[in-house]
Amino acid sequence: MQNVYSSPGRYTQGPDVTDQLVSEMAFLGLVGPVLIVAGPTVTELLSERWKTIFETVGIPYAIYPFEGECYMDAIDALAESASISAVGTLLAAGGGKVIDTTRAAAANLNKPFICCPTVASTDSPCSAIAVVYNPLGVYETSHTCSRNPDLVLVDTEVIVQSPIRYFIAGMGDGLSTVFEARACVQSGRENLRGGRSTLAAAEIGELCYRTLMADGRAALADMQQRTVTPAFERVVEANTLLSGIGFESAGLAAAHGIHNAMTVGEGTHAYLHGEKVAFGVLVHLMLEEQPAEVFEPVVGFCRDVGLPTTLGGVGLDAADEATLRRIAEVASEPESLVLNEPFAITPQKVYDALLAADRVGSAS
Ligand SMILES: [Zn+2]
Repeated sequence: MQNVYSSPGRYTQGPDVTDQLVSEMAFLGLVGPVLIVAGPTVTELLSERWKTIFETVGIPYAIYPFEGECYMDAIDALAESASISAVGTLLAAGGGKVIDTTRAAAANLNKPFICCPTVASTDSPCSAIAVVYNPLGVYETSHTCSRNPDLVLVDTEVIVQSPIRYFIAGMGDGLSTVFEARACVQSGRENLRGGRSTLAAAEIGELCYRTLMADGRAALADMQQRTVTPAFERVVEANTLLSGIGFESAGLAAAHGIHNAMTVGEGTHAYLHGEKVAFGVLVHLMLEEQPAEVFEPVVGFCRDVGLPTTLGGVGLDAADEATLRRIAEVASEPESLVLNEPFAITPQKVYDALLAADRVGSAS
Protein backbone atom coordinates (compact mmCIF):
# COMPACT_ATOMS: atom_id res chain seq x y z
CA MET A 1 0.00 0.00 0.00
CA GLN A 2 1.21 3.52 -0.81
CA ASN A 3 1.54 6.47 1.58
CA VAL A 4 -0.90 9.29 0.77
CA TYR A 5 -0.96 12.84 2.14
CA SER A 6 -3.65 15.32 1.23
CA SER A 7 -4.11 18.99 2.16
CA PRO A 8 -5.63 22.27 0.96
CA GLY A 9 -3.74 24.08 -1.78
CA ARG A 10 -3.20 27.07 0.49
CA TYR A 11 -4.12 27.86 4.11
CA THR A 12 -4.18 31.46 5.31
CA GLN A 13 -5.15 32.38 8.88
CA GLY A 14 -5.10 35.62 10.85
CA PRO A 15 -7.09 38.66 11.96
CA ASP A 16 -9.06 40.26 9.09
CA VAL A 17 -7.65 37.97 6.38
CA THR A 18 -11.08 38.29 4.74
CA ASP A 19 -9.72 41.54 3.32
CA GLN A 20 -6.99 39.55 1.54
CA LEU A 21 -9.43 37.40 -0.38
CA VAL A 22 -8.64 38.92 -3.76
CA SER A 23 -4.86 38.82 -3.33
CA GLU A 24 -5.09 35.21 -2.14
CA MET A 25 -7.17 34.35 -5.21
CA ALA A 26 -4.65 36.08 -7.47
CA PHE A 27 -1.82 34.14 -5.84
CA LEU A 28 -3.56 30.88 -6.82
CA GLY A 29 -4.78 32.08 -10.22
CA LEU A 30 -8.44 31.75 -9.20
CA VAL A 31 -10.87 33.81 -11.27
CA GLY A 32 -14.41 35.15 -11.01
CA PRO A 33 -17.26 35.30 -11.20
CA VAL A 34 -17.32 34.16 -7.57
CA LEU A 35 -20.41 32.48 -6.15
CA ILE A 36 -20.45 32.98 -2.38
CA VAL A 37 -22.61 30.46 -0.51
CA ALA A 38 -23.64 31.58 2.98
CA GLY A 39 -26.52 31.50 5.42
CA PRO A 40 -28.35 34.63 6.60
CA THR A 41 -26.24 35.32 9.72
CA VAL A 42 -22.88 35.16 7.93
CA THR A 43 -24.26 37.12 4.97
CA GLU A 44 -25.34 39.89 7.31
CA LEU A 45 -21.93 39.86 8.97
CA LEU A 46 -19.76 39.88 5.84
CA SER A 47 -21.80 41.09 2.84
CA GLU A 48 -20.56 44.71 3.03
CA ARG A 49 -16.95 43.52 3.12
CA TRP A 50 -17.43 41.20 0.16
CA LYS A 51 -19.00 44.11 -1.75
CA THR A 52 -16.00 46.34 -1.06
CA ILE A 53 -13.46 43.60 -1.77
CA PHE A 54 -14.88 42.46 -5.09
CA GLU A 55 -16.26 45.74 -6.44
CA THR A 56 -12.92 47.52 -5.87
CA VAL A 57 -11.18 45.19 -8.31
CA GLY A 58 -14.14 44.58 -10.60
CA ILE A 59 -14.57 40.85 -9.95
CA PRO A 60 -18.22 39.89 -10.45
CA TYR A 61 -19.76 37.98 -7.58
CA ALA A 62 -23.14 36.86 -6.26
CA ILE A 63 -24.39 35.53 -2.94
CA TYR A 64 -26.27 32.22 -2.98
CA PRO A 65 -28.46 31.88 0.12
CA PHE A 66 -27.79 28.62 1.96
CA GLU A 67 -30.88 27.10 3.50
CA GLY A 68 -29.24 25.11 6.28
CA GLU A 69 -28.97 21.44 5.28
CA CYS A 70 -26.37 19.52 3.25
CA TYR A 71 -28.32 16.97 1.16
CA MET A 72 -28.13 15.74 -2.42
CA ASP A 73 -30.85 17.98 -3.88
CA ALA A 74 -29.29 21.06 -2.25
CA ILE A 75 -25.88 20.15 -3.72
CA ASP A 76 -27.39 19.60 -7.18
CA ALA A 77 -29.37 22.87 -7.06
CA LEU A 78 -26.25 24.82 -6.10
CA ALA A 79 -24.18 23.14 -8.84
CA GLU A 80 -26.88 23.93 -11.41
CA SER A 81 -27.06 27.57 -10.37
CA ALA A 82 -23.25 27.90 -10.48
CA SER A 83 -23.17 26.24 -13.89
CA ILE A 84 -25.87 28.48 -15.40
CA SER A 85 -24.05 31.62 -14.27
CA ALA A 86 -20.68 30.31 -15.54
CA VAL A 87 -19.06 30.75 -12.14
CA GLY A 88 -15.25 30.68 -12.02
CA THR A 89 -14.85 29.95 -8.30
CA LEU A 90 -17.18 28.79 -5.53
CA LEU A 91 -16.70 30.13 -2.01
CA ALA A 92 -18.38 28.85 1.17
CA ALA A 93 -18.58 31.01 4.29
CA GLY A 94 -19.98 29.53 7.49
CA GLY A 95 -20.05 26.21 9.33
CA GLY A 96 -19.76 22.56 8.32
CA LYS A 97 -22.96 22.15 6.33
CA VAL A 98 -22.57 25.15 4.04
CA ILE A 99 -18.93 24.21 3.51
CA ASP A 100 -19.73 20.59 2.66
CA THR A 101 -22.58 21.51 0.31
CA THR A 102 -20.35 23.93 -1.59
CA ARG A 103 -17.38 21.55 -1.54
CA ALA A 104 -19.49 18.83 -3.17
CA ALA A 105 -21.04 21.19 -5.75
CA ALA A 106 -17.61 22.59 -6.71
CA ALA A 107 -16.26 19.04 -7.09
CA ASN A 108 -19.22 18.07 -9.30
CA LEU A 109 -18.43 21.03 -11.58
CA ASN A 110 -14.66 20.58 -11.29
CA LYS A 111 -14.38 24.23 -10.20
CA PRO A 112 -12.02 25.77 -7.62
CA PHE A 113 -13.34 25.92 -4.07
CA ILE A 114 -12.52 28.50 -1.37
CA CYS A 115 -13.46 27.57 2.19
CA CYS A 116 -13.96 30.37 4.75
CA PRO A 117 -14.99 28.79 8.06
CA THR A 118 -16.59 31.26 10.48
CA VAL A 119 -16.39 28.84 13.42
CA ALA A 120 -13.47 26.63 14.55
CA SER A 121 -15.76 23.79 15.56
CA THR A 122 -14.62 20.75 13.57
CA ASP A 123 -11.74 19.20 11.66
CA SER A 124 -13.57 19.29 8.32
CA PRO A 125 -12.74 22.60 6.52
CA CYS A 126 -9.34 21.54 5.13
CA SER A 127 -10.51 18.10 4.01
CA ALA A 128 -12.07 16.76 0.81
CA ILE A 129 -14.83 14.98 2.73
CA ALA A 130 -18.46 16.14 2.51
CA VAL A 131 -20.87 14.70 5.06
CA VAL A 132 -24.26 14.38 3.36
CA TYR A 133 -27.58 14.18 5.23
CA ASN A 134 -31.15 13.61 4.11
CA PRO A 135 -33.48 16.67 3.96
CA LEU A 136 -34.51 15.98 7.58
CA GLY A 137 -30.91 16.21 8.78
CA VAL A 138 -30.28 12.49 9.35
CA TYR A 139 -26.77 11.31 8.38
CA GLU A 140 -26.70 9.58 5.00
CA THR A 141 -23.14 9.23 3.73
CA SER A 142 -19.62 10.67 3.67
CA HIS A 143 -18.62 11.67 0.18
CA THR A 144 -14.94 12.05 -0.76
CA CYS A 145 -14.60 14.88 -3.28
CA SER A 146 -12.02 14.88 -6.05
CA ARG A 147 -9.83 17.44 -4.32
CA ASN A 148 -9.26 19.44 -1.14
CA PRO A 149 -10.12 23.16 -1.05
CA ASP A 150 -7.88 25.33 -3.22
CA LEU A 151 -7.83 27.88 -0.42
CA VAL A 152 -8.86 27.81 3.25
CA LEU A 153 -9.12 31.34 4.60
CA VAL A 154 -9.58 31.59 8.37
CA ASP A 155 -10.33 35.07 9.69
CA THR A 156 -9.61 34.88 13.42
CA GLU A 157 -11.43 38.19 14.08
CA VAL A 158 -14.56 36.46 12.77
CA ILE A 159 -13.90 33.20 14.66
CA VAL A 160 -13.35 35.00 17.97
CA GLN A 161 -16.88 36.44 17.75
CA SER A 162 -18.49 33.03 17.09
CA PRO A 163 -20.35 30.97 19.73
CA ILE A 164 -17.94 29.73 22.42
CA ARG A 165 -19.54 26.28 22.62
CA TYR A 166 -18.49 25.65 18.99
CA PHE A 167 -14.88 26.58 19.71
CA ILE A 168 -14.82 24.19 22.68
CA ALA A 169 -16.32 21.44 20.53
CA GLY A 170 -13.56 22.08 17.97
CA MET A 171 -11.00 21.35 20.68
CA GLY A 172 -12.87 18.11 21.48
CA ASP A 173 -12.63 17.07 17.83
CA GLY A 174 -8.93 18.01 17.75
CA LEU A 175 -8.24 16.00 20.90
CA SER A 176 -9.01 12.77 19.03
CA THR A 177 -6.58 13.28 16.13
CA VAL A 178 -3.37 12.05 17.76
CA PHE A 179 -4.89 8.92 19.29
CA GLU A 180 -6.60 7.89 16.07
CA ALA A 181 -3.43 8.62 14.07
CA ARG A 182 -1.39 6.44 16.42
CA ALA A 183 -3.96 3.61 16.15
CA CYS A 184 -3.95 3.73 12.32
CA VAL A 185 -0.16 3.89 12.12
CA GLN A 186 0.11 0.89 14.43
CA SER A 187 -2.54 -1.15 12.64
CA GLY A 188 -1.39 -0.06 9.16
CA ARG A 189 -4.99 0.75 8.22
CA GLU A 190 -5.88 3.15 5.43
CA ASN A 191 -6.39 6.85 5.96
CA LEU A 192 -9.35 8.61 4.34
CA ARG A 193 -7.48 9.07 1.06
CA GLY A 194 -6.75 5.43 0.39
CA GLY A 195 -3.21 5.09 1.63
CA ARG A 196 -1.12 4.73 4.75
CA SER A 197 -0.18 7.70 6.87
CA THR A 198 2.95 9.64 5.98
CA LEU A 199 5.37 10.63 8.73
CA ALA A 200 4.19 14.22 8.23
CA ALA A 201 0.51 13.47 8.93
CA ALA A 202 1.29 11.38 12.02
CA GLU A 203 3.51 14.14 13.41
CA ILE A 204 0.83 16.75 12.70
CA GLY A 205 -1.50 14.71 14.92
CA GLU A 206 1.08 14.82 17.73
CA LEU A 207 1.48 18.59 17.31
CA CYS A 208 -2.28 19.06 17.40
CA TYR A 209 -2.45 17.35 20.81
CA ARG A 210 0.55 19.23 22.22
CA THR A 211 -0.93 22.55 21.06
CA LEU A 212 -4.32 21.90 22.64
CA MET A 213 -2.75 20.81 25.93
CA ALA A 214 -0.40 23.80 26.06
CA ASP A 215 -2.75 26.54 24.82
CA GLY A 216 -6.34 25.28 24.95
CA ARG A 217 -7.22 26.66 28.37
CA ALA A 218 -5.69 30.09 27.68
CA ALA A 219 -7.28 30.22 24.22
CA LEU A 220 -10.69 29.61 25.76
CA ALA A 221 -10.17 32.44 28.25
CA ASP A 222 -9.14 34.71 25.34
CA MET A 223 -12.21 33.68 23.39
CA GLN A 224 -14.39 34.56 26.38
CA GLN A 225 -12.82 38.04 26.25
CA ARG A 226 -13.33 38.08 22.45
CA THR A 227 -9.62 38.79 22.03
CA VAL A 228 -7.36 37.31 19.37
CA THR A 229 -4.07 36.33 21.01
CA PRO A 230 -1.16 34.10 19.93
CA ALA A 231 -2.60 31.22 22.03
CA PHE A 232 -6.00 31.68 20.39
CA GLU A 233 -4.39 31.67 16.92
CA ARG A 234 -2.53 28.46 17.72
CA VAL A 235 -5.68 26.67 18.90
CA VAL A 236 -7.68 27.82 15.87
CA GLU A 237 -4.88 26.30 13.79
CA ALA A 238 -5.00 23.09 15.87
CA ASN A 239 -8.79 22.78 15.50
CA THR A 240 -8.84 23.58 11.80
CA LEU A 241 -5.53 22.78 10.05
CA LEU A 242 -3.70 20.30 12.29
CA SER A 243 -6.76 18.25 13.18
CA GLY A 244 -8.00 18.44 9.56
CA ILE A 245 -4.83 17.14 7.98
CA GLY A 246 -4.30 14.72 10.84
CA PHE A 247 -7.65 12.97 10.53
CA GLU A 248 -7.75 12.89 6.73
CA SER A 249 -4.16 11.87 6.07
CA ALA A 250 -3.37 9.76 9.15
CA GLY A 251 -6.76 8.14 9.65
CA LEU A 252 -9.70 7.74 12.01
CA ALA A 253 -10.24 4.96 14.54
CA ALA A 254 -12.14 4.35 17.78
CA ALA A 255 -12.87 7.94 18.92
CA HIS A 256 -14.80 8.82 15.73
CA GLY A 257 -16.13 5.26 15.40
CA ILE A 258 -17.60 5.50 18.91
CA HIS A 259 -18.99 8.94 18.02
CA ASN A 260 -20.75 7.50 14.98
CA ALA A 261 -22.13 4.55 16.93
CA MET A 262 -23.31 6.75 19.82
CA THR A 263 -25.64 8.60 17.45
CA VAL A 264 -28.02 5.58 17.63
CA GLY A 265 -28.78 6.90 21.13
CA GLU A 266 -31.50 9.54 20.65
CA GLY A 267 -30.23 11.52 23.62
CA THR A 268 -26.93 12.31 21.87
CA HIS A 269 -28.54 14.34 19.06
CA ALA A 270 -28.55 17.55 21.08
CA TYR A 271 -24.74 17.48 21.35
CA LEU A 272 -22.18 18.80 18.89
CA HIS A 273 -19.87 16.53 16.89
CA GLY A 274 -16.78 17.60 18.84
CA GLU A 275 -18.50 17.14 22.20
CA LYS A 276 -19.36 13.54 21.36
CA VAL A 277 -15.89 12.94 19.90
CA ALA A 278 -14.34 14.16 23.18
CA PHE A 279 -16.16 11.45 25.12
CA GLY A 280 -15.30 9.08 22.26
CA VAL A 281 -11.62 9.79 23.01
CA LEU A 282 -12.05 8.56 26.58
CA VAL A 283 -13.77 5.39 25.34
CA HIS A 284 -10.97 4.99 22.77
CA LEU A 285 -8.33 5.17 25.53
CA MET A 286 -10.22 2.67 27.71
CA LEU A 287 -10.57 0.28 24.77
CA GLU A 288 -6.82 0.47 24.26
CA GLU A 289 -6.31 -0.06 28.01
CA GLN A 290 -4.12 3.02 28.17
CA PRO A 291 -2.54 3.83 31.56
CA ALA A 292 -3.59 6.71 33.81
CA GLU A 293 -0.66 8.84 32.60
CA VAL A 294 -2.28 8.85 29.15
CA PHE A 295 -5.97 9.32 30.02
CA GLU A 296 -5.71 11.58 33.08
CA PRO A 297 -4.42 14.64 31.17
CA VAL A 298 -7.28 14.15 28.69
CA VAL A 299 -9.90 13.98 31.47
CA GLY A 300 -8.37 17.02 33.17
CA PHE A 301 -8.34 19.02 29.94
CA CYS A 302 -11.95 18.14 29.13
CA ARG A 303 -13.09 19.15 32.61
CA ASP A 304 -11.17 22.45 32.47
CA VAL A 305 -12.60 23.56 29.12
CA GLY A 306 -16.09 22.12 29.62
CA LEU A 307 -16.02 19.07 27.34
CA PRO A 308 -18.06 16.02 28.41
CA THR A 309 -16.31 13.22 30.33
CA THR A 310 -19.34 11.07 31.17
CA LEU A 311 -22.15 9.23 29.38
CA GLY A 312 -24.57 11.72 30.92
CA GLY A 313 -22.51 14.52 29.38
CA VAL A 314 -23.45 13.33 25.87
CA GLY A 315 -27.08 12.48 26.59
CA LEU A 316 -26.62 8.79 27.47
CA ASP A 317 -27.25 6.90 30.70
CA ALA A 318 -24.93 4.33 32.32
CA ALA A 319 -28.02 2.47 33.59
CA ASP A 320 -29.55 2.18 30.10
CA GLU A 321 -27.90 -1.14 29.22
CA ALA A 322 -30.02 -1.75 26.10
CA THR A 323 -28.86 1.48 24.40
CA LEU A 324 -25.23 0.99 25.41
CA ARG A 325 -25.30 -2.61 24.10
CA ARG A 326 -26.77 -1.35 20.82
CA ILE A 327 -24.01 1.28 20.54
CA ALA A 328 -21.41 -1.41 21.23
CA GLU A 329 -22.91 -3.62 18.48
CA VAL A 330 -22.88 -0.81 15.91
CA ALA A 331 -19.32 0.14 16.91
CA SER A 332 -18.20 -3.45 16.19
CA GLU A 333 -19.82 -3.80 12.74
CA PRO A 334 -17.44 -4.51 9.84
CA GLU A 335 -17.48 -0.96 8.40
CA SER A 336 -16.99 0.73 11.80
CA LEU A 337 -13.94 2.97 12.21
CA VAL A 338 -13.36 1.27 15.58
CA LEU A 339 -12.03 -1.69 13.61
CA ASN A 340 -9.03 0.47 12.58
CA GLU A 341 -7.68 -0.20 16.08
CA PRO A 342 -4.68 -2.57 16.11
CA PHE A 343 -6.48 -5.38 18.00
CA ALA A 344 -9.70 -7.42 17.76
CA ILE A 345 -12.89 -5.56 18.67
CA THR A 346 -15.95 -7.23 20.21
CA PRO A 347 -19.24 -5.65 21.34
CA GLN A 348 -18.43 -6.72 24.91
CA LYS A 349 -15.08 -4.88 24.81
CA VAL A 350 -16.77 -1.71 23.53
CA TYR A 351 -19.53 -1.98 26.12
CA ASP A 352 -16.97 -2.36 28.90
CA ALA A 353 -14.99 0.61 27.53
CA LEU A 354 -18.11 2.83 27.48
CA LEU A 355 -18.68 2.11 31.18
CA ALA A 356 -14.97 2.41 32.05
CA ALA A 357 -14.81 5.83 30.35
CA ASP A 358 -17.87 6.94 32.32
CA ARG A 359 -16.19 5.74 35.54
CA VAL A 360 -12.87 7.54 35.00
CA GLY A 361 -14.72 10.63 33.76
CA SER A 362 -16.98 10.67 36.84
CA ALA A 363 -14.21 10.15 39.41
CA SER A 364 -13.21 13.28 41.26
ZN1 LIG B 1 -14.36 15.00 13.65
